[in-house]
Amino acid sequence: MKQGLLCMVFFGLVSCRPSTAIDIVDKPIVFDETRKQLTLEYLEQRYGLEQETPTITPKMIVLHWTVFPTLKASFEAFEQPTLPNWRPDIESVSGLNVSAQFLVDQDGTIYRLLPETTMARHVIGLNHCAIGIENVGGTNDMPLTQAQLESNIRLVQYLASKYPIDYLIGHYEYTHFEHHDLWLEKDAGYRTKKTDPGKEFLTKVRTATKSFNFKPVPEQNKSL
Ligand SMILES: [Zn+2]
Repeated sequence: MKQGLLCMVFFGLVSCRPSTAIDIVDKPIVFDETRKQLTLEYLEQRYGLEQETPTITPKMIVLHWTVFPTLKASFEAFEQPTLPNWRPDIESVSGLNVSAQFLVDQDGTIYRLLPETTMARHVIGLNHCAIGIENVGGTNDMPLTQAQLESNIRLVQYLASKYPIDYLIGHYEYTHFEHHDLWLEKDAGYRTKKTDPGKEFLTKVRTATKSFNFKPVPEQNKSL
């Protein structure tokens, strides 16, 4: 009690951010030589980035839902290095499987699937700078939970305290960046329509982390 009061007296005028203490369970997906090479290829072919290591410079956090109802099914969707229906003879499509650096279960447990600065394929145009947080569920039968909301907030606080994060976005907002400097996708026809993680969920995470002063998401291009 006395310490709390002292804190008020001495630090009352400073922006005191919430504690970033966080429990993270490492549950790595396969990142073998195949996945490494496919990631390096993805960075070069889609973004024109020739790198020695499959790493990113984090500037953005993207929130998702998996639509899969269980942790097991969600994890298995990301686990293997190549897309399930990949045909290596079709060169125009990358065989790199989708994934994210983090996966949050319905009970709020946070799993780290990859090192935080290893590239994951989770958002067109922006994977070179975006850390992805996937959430188990997202359907009418299995909506995202309060525990997931709280874990997403803690995870965003943790990441934004560790890396110079400029943007916090929902996957459904990614096309707003098509004319932004961070957008590197070369193929103007390569787009998918997204709704995750829902506007309500994203708004709650944004509100709870507003002390980080993330930059506003650019206006959507009117021609789209
Ligand atoms: Zn998504």
